[in-house]
This record gives sequence, C-alpha cells and structure tokens, in this order.
Amino acid sequence: MARDEIEQITGLTTNNLDAYWMPFTANRQFKKDPRLLVKAKDMHYTSADGRQILDGTAGLWCCNAGHGRQKIVEAVQKQVAELDYAPAFQMAHPKSFELAARLAALMPDPLNHVFYTNSGSESVETALKMALAYHKARGEGSRTRLIGRERGYHGVNFGGISVGGMVANRKQFGAMLAGVDHMRHTHGIAGNEFSKGVPKNGIEYAEDLMRLIQLHDPSTIAAVIVEPVAGSAGVILPPEGYLKRLREICDEHGILLIFDEVITGFGRLGTPFGVDYFDVIPDLVTTAKGLTSGVVPMGAVFASSKVYDAFMTGPDHLIELFHGYTYSAHPLACAAALATLDVYAEEELLTRGAKMAEYWQEALHSLRDCPHVIDIRNIGLIGAVELEPIAGEPTKRAFTAFLKAYEKNILIRTTGDTIAMSPPLIISESEIDTLVGTLRDVLKSLD
Ligand code: PLP
Repeated sequence: MARDEIEQITGLTTNNLDAYWMPFTANRQFKKDPRLLVKAKDMHYTSADGRQILDGTAGLWCCNAGHGRQKIVEAVQKQVAELDYAPAFQMAHPKSFELAARLAALMPDPLNHVFYTNSGSESVETALKMALAYHKARGEGSRTRLIGRERGYHGVNFGGISVGGMVANRKQFGAMLAGVDHMRHTHGIAGNEFSKGVPKNGIEYAEDLMRLIQLHDPSTIAAVIVEPVAGSAGVILPPEGYLKRLREICDEHGILLIFDEVITGFGRLGTPFGVDYFDVIPDLVTTAKGLTSGVVPMGAVFASSKVYDAFMTGPDHLIELFHGYTYSAHPLACAAALATLDVYAEEELLTRGAKMAEYWQEALHSLRDCPHVIDIRNIGLIGAVELEPIAGEPTKRAFTAFLKAYEKNILIRTTGDTIAMSPPLIISESEIDTLVGTLRDVLKSLD
C-alpha cells in the first residue's frame, strides 16, 4: 500500500512516520511502503487498508491464545481501573503471588520459584545474573564463565548478545561480556534435511561442551544457556538426545543449565514447556511472550529450589538478590497472565499443538517441491521453510517472500533465508491449509 493512501486512511504525516525509529526493521524500505496493522481478532489482523491478514506467526511468537480474547481483555480492563501500579520492591500485590503459584504448578519440580521481568531479554539477563550470584553465594565465586551457542538468540541486551551467537546482532556493538564461550550450533548437520520433528543426527555436538570444560576447567564455568528449539535464528532443532546429554555434562561438572524458553514456553511445542517435551529439567528457565499471550509485556524466570534456596541464607532483613525492575510483577501484566492461563486451561491450548502437529507437519512438507526450497523443519506448531539464497544477496529471496505473502494476506516471518511460522495455538486445519496454500503460491512466484 502506498504511503499517501496510508496517510489518507490513518491521518499519519510524513514527519511522524520518520520520527519512529523502528526496531529490527529496514526503516527506509518500510516507510516507503508501510505495513500497518490496526485491529486483531482471533487468527487475523486487520491491515490499515482493511484486509484480513492470517496471522502465521502469533505476532512475534507470542499471541499463543490468538488475538482479542475477551477474557484477557476484560481482566486487563478491570485491573487498570482497580490497581494500576504497585511497587515491586519491598511491596507486592496479591495477584503476583497467585500468578507465581500457578506458574510454578505448571512446571515440573523442582522449578518452583518465579522471578518476574518485562521481556525475554530481561529474563535472560536475570537468569545469567542469578547463575553467577548462585555460585558466589555458595562460595564458588571462580565460576564466572558463561557458555552459549553459535546462532543462539537470547534477546538484545549485553548479556544476551554475549551468550548469543547471531553475528548481525553482535557485530555493531563492540566488546561483549568477558569470559563467554560458545558451542557449535546444530544447524545443517548432514542427513537432517527435511527431518520431521527432532532430527536424528548430531548428538555428538553436545560434546562441544566437554571440550570447553576441558579448555577452561569446570571451576571457571557458571552456566550453559541454550534454546531447546532455536526460533529467531531460523528454527534450529536439537538433535535427538542432545539436550539430555547437555544436562548430564552439566550435572557431572557442577554447571547450571539454563533453558531459554521465551519461544518454546506456553504450548508452542505441544507441551506446556520444552522442559516437558524433551524431558530435561534445567536449573533456570527463561520465559516471556506466551506468558500473557503478548497482551501486556511480561517475562518470568523459573528457578529451581536448589538455586532459590542458595540465596535464602543470612539475616532475614537483608535483600538476597540485588536485581529487579520497576515494572516487575506489574498488576496489568499479572492480570493478563492469569486470564491467559485460564484461557489456556479452558481450551487445553498448552497441549493443542500436539494434536495439530501431524497435520501441520504434513502441510508444511507438502512445500518440499516448491522452487528454491532446500529444507523444511517442524516441531509442535513451529515450522520453517529454508530457501536457497540468491547468490551474493543473502536474505533477499526470503524477504521478498515475506512482502509477497503480506500482499496475499498471510503474515510470515523471515530470518536469513528461512521463512519461520508459529501460528496462534488456536489455528484450525482449514487455516493451516490457507497459510500453506498461500505460501505455496508465493514460493512459486519467486525469482
Ligand atoms: N530469548 C529467545 C529464545 C527469544 O526468542 C527472544 C525473542 O524472540 C528473546 C529471548 C527476547 O525476547 P524479547 O524480545 O521479549 O526481549
């Protein structure tokens, strides 16, 4: 849609389009041809030019219950009128405790404690700081090293980009945290192309952790952080047995294991958390996004009793962890999260992905013969279609697909030359057909 048409419809002027410096966006391209969303209900956005856009990405992997859900909307409306804000330091409001107890009940033992943040990035910083402070509290202050993974995405703050491994997110920003090392990513292992679900090959990549332990000595390593399934880097699945092996190695060497479940949390894999899907229990779990179905910003870090208890020593009147945010446990976020958990429970959405996974998988893999497709990956309600890059112009082919898809009324996401999809967990079989069928037309139209 041309900008003058958008301006007519929305009353926007050139100046106020330019004032907004958009995140992770090609600003100049966008502002020449803006894509504005003005409403959302269930599986669809409404664009400024009045089209219904099928949401193939749950917003940014977050609107797991779909959009405009009445119960969540009403809970937030009621809350803002009743208690708009309460300080989170040395004070609290009842819903923060109610929510923590309900969240802890969703997680397996011993992940029984919840620390609130306002985003996935903040959850990551919180978990990394908890890991460092945990070892210090136990008299093992030499454990300061953090291990991440190539192509990992852990948000955009300094801790997260340090342990993360997406080059574009790091190279503009100079020095990272000191004392960080990375394992290899598990993408592109021979024989895993077009795998359905978790790929068979590559468990030996977990031995990278052993090599880093031998290099640095376990007495210097605090924690390892991985996404059980990497989303933002282009949907990278863990080889069969890989996460269990990481857990074993961490246990043998006194290293904390952190799962970054900002994407995999809250039903995305067809289980409440990746923890359940892979049957591996880390020491800390970072979440955000689906916690409130994207309605109000909120994150939560789950900590095991072992971690929490290590801090609960010393005189009672002393603060145990010098960390927190003005908006931790914000009343609107807590109200949104409680109502979201109700919707998840009433509609069994945290396990619905498992029921839909087979249909989703077959639909996605039907794109295998489309032009330029070099791989298709899926798990739960996540799907990725990887395209062969245009020689000398990486990312361009997939970005063109994204623009064409939007013109054809579906919202997909691209990262590098991979198209990623993660629809709201309420998606129906016929909506999967529409999403995949439209994507097929888009792929066939690409140069
Ligand atoms: N961690 C993971 C695994 C993510 O996928 C994301 C966002 O996509 C983040 C952290 C950062 O979350 P936020 O954008 O809410 O800061």
